[in-house]
Amino acid sequence: MKSGLYIVATPIGNMGDISPRAVETLHNADVIACEDTRISKKLLSLLGISLNKTFITLHDHNEDRHLKKIISVIKDENKSVALISDAGSPLISDPGYKLIRACRDENIFITTIPGCCALICALQLSGLPTNRFLFAGFLPVKDKARQDAFLEIKNLKATVVFYETAGRIVKTLETAQEVLGGREMAVAREISKIYEECITGTAEELIRHFSERGAKGEMVLMIAPAEEETTEISRAEMQNQLRQKLQTASLKSAVKEIVEEYGANKNEIYEMALGIKNEK
Ligand code: SAM
Repeated sequence: MKSGLYIVATPIGNMGDISPRAVETLHNADVIACEDTRISKKLLSLLGISLNKTFITLHDHNEDRHLKKIISVIKDENKSVALISDAGSPLISDPGYKLIRACRDENIFITTIPGCCALICALQLSGLPTNRFLFAGFLPVKDKARQDAFLEIKNLKATVVFYETAGRIVKTLETAQEVLGGREMAVAREISKIYEECITGTAEELIRHFSERGAKGEMVLMIAPAEEETTEISRAEMQNQLRQKLQTASLKSAVKEIVEEYGANKNEIYEMALGIKNEK
């Protein structure tokens, strides 16, 4: 195989998703650059590929040092290096971009062997608009930073995709509810595995789902785009109508009726309804 760097996508759950070209590339590569050698050796063994290769680790703490080693084996030893991550597409919330920059600077041959990427699979399952989306990686762990992350995307007219862990999903959804109200959201989990599912609803509905059934596995959180804002006049009119409806109907059905009648933004009306309820 030609000397250079090969970016190889690996499965995110189902081994059947690896492409024949990825298998061939991993088979022919002299060196495997990976995050965790134990995980990558297991993958190669499952694919029946010899482990008689050099493995170089690449992660956030050693990327600067180890990329020099990788450049050297390609340039000085004329070898081929396959870059893989623990699962899915390398470089997407995974290490590698500094290595690619360095290889480009050195005019090294680079190619990609495409395949699974969790964020794309999740978007496909969500039913949310896919014409415009922002991938925002992992949410910050600290409460205030996570709240700021939601505030930052609150008015964005694009679907926003976050990677999240099962342990934090409920807390994250609680913050999302505080900031985004009744906005439509989706959580896709365990994609390509036995318990794959994609749940859609408001943050409140998703919190209920995970509180009742427990939150397990790998997951992707997606937030629907912000909708057009309404004018001040229609706002006042809707507020009056909503106030009247709330006297006899539940919050959910009053919101639904106004949204349908005025073609209004569901989140805005939901927040308006909460405001009216709180007045009482
Ligand atoms: N580079 C990988 C990709 O984009 O395919 C993602 C690596 S990132 C370190 C790992 C995160 O991706 C997980 O925490 C989860 O949010 C998401 N993920 C990976 N596999 C998944 C799966 N099978 N189902 C749902 N989300 C998954």
